[in-house]
Amino acid sequence: MDIFEKYRGLIARHDRMLEAAGDPFNVCMERLISPTEAIIDGKRTILFGTNNYLGLTFDPHCIEQSAAAVREQGTGTTGSRIANGTYKSHRDLETEIAGYLGKRTALVFSTGYQANLGTLVGLAGPDDIILIDADSHASIYDGCKLTGATVIRFRHNNPADLDKRLARIENKEQVKLVVVEGIYSMFGDMAPIAEFVDVKKRHGAFLMVDEAHSFGVSGDHGRGVAEAEGVEADVDFVVGTFSKSLGAIGGYAASDHPDFDTLRFVSRPYMFTASPSPATAASVRAALECMRDRPELRTRLWENARRIHQGLEALGFETCSPASPIIALRMSDEVAALTAWRRLLDHGIYVNLAVPPGTPNGVCLLRCSVSAAHSNAQIDEILRRFGEVASEILTVADAG
Ligand code: PMP
Repeated sequence: MDIFEKYRGLIARHDRMLEAAGDPFNVCMERLISPTEAIIDGKRTILFGTNNYLGLTFDPHCIEQSAAAVREQGTGTTGSRIANGTYKSHRDLETEIAGYLGKRTALVFSTGYQANLGTLVGLAGPDDIILIDADSHASIYDGCKLTGATVIRFRHNNPADLDKRLARIENKEQVKLVVVEGIYSMFGDMAPIAEFVDVKKRHGAFLMVDEAHSFGVSGDHGRGVAEAEGVEADVDFVVGTFSKSLGAIGGYAASDHPDFDTLRFVSRPYMFTASPSPATAASVRAALECMRDRPELRTRLWENARRIHQGLEALGFETCSPASPIIALRMSDEVAALTAWRRLLDHGIYVNLAVPPGTPNGVCLLRCSVSAAHSNAQIDEILRRFGEVASEILTVADAG
């Protein structure tokens, strides 16, 4: 039997997509013009689906620092953190992240995906129980598999359901780790972290929060939803990424636990992969400075998010959450979503097409994300273009 036989169904589905709308999962940015514009299919396109929340990918300070690091330290570290890949810049970055978050220890990982894998597998083992929100990101699901722990899913953003499931655990001595996200990547909704804190305390569980989409976005200092809810001290482990608000790549995990450094010699996704490049470490540090010194970026991001949210609702679109930098529009099915996605791209607006298995509960979405770098004129243009395709999109969406 052919080794790809198991994918025949998926390949056929992909072929149908290609025929109908081109490949939504292989869009090529032929040239970047700014954090919010690129040339796609030879055409100037507004980027409205890139997680570039603070618009820092072209920030002159980040670029300067990154370029200087390449010149001074070379293009790559050529090794893992436990071999030749720990540079002073990694140590400095970890100190800065820990300081920014007010946590005792921070570890830097090569991607946000690995930060989740590495933290979960470092914390939990076969004797433990992990309780995860049903809408968790793939990296949380994958990390859980690596641990060998018993995994229990609770209903999305539902502390009462978590409470019920924790109460059912008979062996009170077993280690229990609850995992939630700050802002959820598909619908843009926020976790009620203060309520989760109450529940985890009642049951003597640990709490890990992935602030991938909320770092730089939520809280007065951008530390995430736990900051916004005033419960940072009760979050035992916080994970995040450098690939969204900070405009680079890499991830972090931080904690006040006195033994958290143990992950450095037990967590394989930390140990057995090359460390972030010097340019990455430098641009992340520069971006952290921007995040700290320019709170107006966050203000602008939320102003843009509210304008877009109101504008889309006024056009008749149903958004999946209250105003948030992630705006998801539910489509009736894959064909409707694909058609709408293509129409928008043809009109010079790039958004993400999100379909199963990448979405919770099999929903099909147009997933949009706002940036502080979107100008008023770009927002007007985005809304104008959505307005032009609205009748078509809303008709196909309603048909389901
Ligand atoms: N956690 C969440 C909630 C995410 O949405 C993502 C990326 N979309 C990640 C982790 C992984 O981050 P990265 O892309 O930086 O590897």
